[in-house]
Amino acid sequence: MATKILSNEIVIQKAKQFGFDLVGFAKAEILGKESKNMKNWLQKNYQAGMDYMERNFEKRKDVKKILPGAKSIISLGLNYYTSDNYSNDKNKGKTCLPVGKVSCYAWGKDYHLIIWVMLDELEEELKKIDPQFESISYVDTGPVMDKAWAVRAGLGWLGKHTNVINREIGSWFFIANIITNYDFNYSEQFPDFCGTCTACIDACPTDAIIQEYVVDANKCISYLTIENKSEIPDEFKNKFDNWLFGCDICQDVCPWNQKFPIETLIKDFHPQNKELILDEVLELTEEDFKERFKTSPIKRAKLSGLKRNSLYLKNI
Ligand code: SF4
Ligand code: SF4
Repeated sequence: MATKILSNEIVIQKAKQFGFDLVGFAKAEILGKESKNMKNWLQKNYQAGMDYMERNFEKRKDVKKILPGAKSIISLGLNYYTSDNYSNDKNKGKTCLPVGKVSCYAWGKDYHLIIWVMLDELEEELKKIDPQFESISYVDTGPVMDKAWAVRAGLGWLGKHTNVINREIGSWFFIANIITNYDFNYSEQFPDFCGTCTACIDACPTDAIIQEYVVDANKCISYLTIENKSEIPDEFKNKFDNWLFGCDICQDVCPWNQKFPIETLIKDFHPQNKELILDEVLELTEEDFKERFKTSPIKRAKLSGLKRNSLYLKNI
């Protein structure tokens, strides 16, 4: 590459200008330790029905299989916390009709729709500044170990509940990664600040965090209510704490999320679907569902999944 025009400072300034809250830089190396952990996790079948996790293992391990000239990963975080969080909910228990709770990442507009636009703008701007800048970006779809790169790029550390935690904004943030042919100064990694805390492990109602830093998706309410295509096993009846789509318990109890709650600046993340009335879900037609959730992450569960979850919570 001829003279470098882009610097860390320029990328940080542009990423913030387009709305990202966190920015870090990691060297595009093979993810040795992380891919070994993932292989062990897959061998134990902890991915449950998420067969896509088994595909493209070599690309997950080595981003050069995605972008041959890759030199760096720019990892980006976008805060989605709003103070309507369930742990602050003053109306808790006051609803008359049986309702199911929605994980707070899915209250508003689908984050993919928001972040893809932000990434396009950012990458276009960086290419305008230096046409030598090449990039491929991902937001949790595609063969990229997004949390591993966020940790390596210093956005935070991997908590025992397996979400990335940042000292300033906790774990309520989405991760996007840009793989690029550009060299940067690499960020320092965060130490692990979980210490002796086990609040997330103790609070998980289905014992899905089977050991520190390992979640068995077969037991996790998030998986069981969203990605799962089968029936929900009876063994978890009465353990769901009214979660209809996703689950926030392990993040809600984390001291790092209670310490510094900072509101997201993205209005589209504010609640549109915080709770759903179970009987109303059961009456939805395919057309109603498509219309109501067309820009919501809830569409991921499909109407059949949402109805299955409603029946499960009604204990039918
Ligand atoms: S999301 Fe819920 S079920 Fe899954 S590990 Fe966290 S507390 Fe347990
Ligand atoms: S609840 Fe405690 S152990 Fe779990 S991720 Fe947060 S700090 Fe770490």
